[in-house]
Amino acid sequence: MPDLNLILLGPPGSGKGTQGERLQEDLELPYYATGDILRAAVKEGTEVGQTAREYMERGDLVPDEVIIGVIAERLGDSPAGHGFILDGFPRTVPQAEALDAELDKLGRQLEAVILIDVSDDEIIRRITGRRVCADGGHIYHVEFSPPETEGVCDIDGSELVVRDDDRPEVVRNRLDQYHEKTAPLVSYYEKQALLNRVDGSADPDQVAESIRSLVSTLSLEEG
Ligand code: ADP
Ligand code: ADP
Repeated sequence: MPDLNLILLGPPGSGKGTQGERLQEDLELPYYATGDILRAAVKEGTEVGQTAREYMERGDLVPDEVIIGVIAERLGDSPAGHGFILDGFPRTVPQAEALDAELDKLGRQLEAVILIDVSDDEIIRRITGRRVCADGGHIYHVEFSPPETEGVCDIDGSELVVRDDDRPEVVRNRLDQYHEKTAPLVSYYEKQALLNRVDGSADPDQVAESIRSLVSTLSLEEG
């Protein structure tokens, strides 16, 4: 199997987690979602979690050095040659530069950056209706992707909750942070000829299909 090293890029609520879950099942690749990793660290009360908590509550990005350390550790442990999916990292140009340096060190390289393109209006609709399961982080939407039984996760039966940072005043700040600090990564990866745009406004199955066909082209090229 090729070393399919992928990044899912996109604004908060664009569908990175939804698509990441599916892609991970399809491709059976290690999947690192920094939001999930940080939320687990906050819950466990680790040093990283204690630092990250206040930034996440405000909808600010946690400091680069904190999150870079977290990812470098994961990639160092990740089996070389088996690919990976990064969801939510990098989110700033310094993070992207650190990732390039880390992969260089490991003798690996990125295969593609998949940008899930969604308008700000749609993002607000998606985030305000988002529900996640308390135990496994499985993702639902009250209107677009409801569970079979209201308030209960189909997969593990745990309670569905609203993320603390999905409150409207925090969401606005997260979107501002995205435009200011993360959107510059679009041209960063365009320059490296790695950027692939996917229309994220379609329904989840269609978006998954676009990503699947993109990835199968990449796999053939890599062959
Ligand atoms: P979303 O899925 O809505 O994009 P995430 O779950 O990925 O949000 O991230 C939640 C929060 O975790 C972010 O608002 C930020 O505070 C923090 N975070 C996640 N990834 C990073 C990162 N790469 N750099 C800095 N902060 C991050
Ligand atoms: P991200 O990880 O980028 O923050 P999520 O995957 O958590 O995004 O999706 C945000 C919300 O939008 C969730 O409630 C999810 O169920 C919903 N959602 C995801 N993809 C779509 C889509 N293509 N159409 C409609 N709603 C979607």
